[in-house]
Amino acid sequence: MSGVAIRHAFATNRKAVAITFDDGPNPVYTPAIGNHTYTHPYLTRLDEESCRSELLRTHKSIEALAGQPPRSFRPPYFDCDGRVADIAANLGYSVIGAVNGAARDWEQPGVRHIVESSRASVKPGCVLLFHDGFGDRSQTVEAVRQLVTELAAEGYELVTVSELAHPHR
Ligand SMILES: [Zn+2]
Repeated sequence: MSGVAIRHAFATNRKAVAITFDDGPNPVYTPAIGNHTYTHPYLTRLDEESCRSELLRTHKSIEALAGQPPRSFRPPYFDCDGRVADIAANLGYSVIGAVNGAARDWEQPGVRHIVESSRASVKPGCVLLFHDGFGDRSQTVEAVRQLVTELAAEGYELVTVSELAHPHR
């Protein structure tokens, strides 16, 4: 992971966080996800044509289903370099990371670990990432339920990445 051009948080005056899900869609827990590639490859290992094709295929699918293309792109494994970022930017994407990578919810490390690790990284304008594909997601679901309750009690608004990235649109 190079970290080049990936946005893990945004400057904002709002006490707001964006909770996001990768690897779905899941009909219950995925109201809207951005572009996360078609086959989930390490993009920096692909040639330019293949990389663009990964984004474009998903771009067109989401546009066909949702009526508009997504604006946010998260590289699988946060694997991104300047070239990948340029390809994404040319398609109109913001490249989105997350502040709670250490939560590693996809490994099912325990609800308590997911909650505490995510909580420790929360700040206004940040993006939190969870996973709703690949098998049993019950720990993730319970951790998100607890976090949403806590964040709301602390006065946080839950917003979309687009609201953080493009507040004036
Ligand atoms: Zn993923």
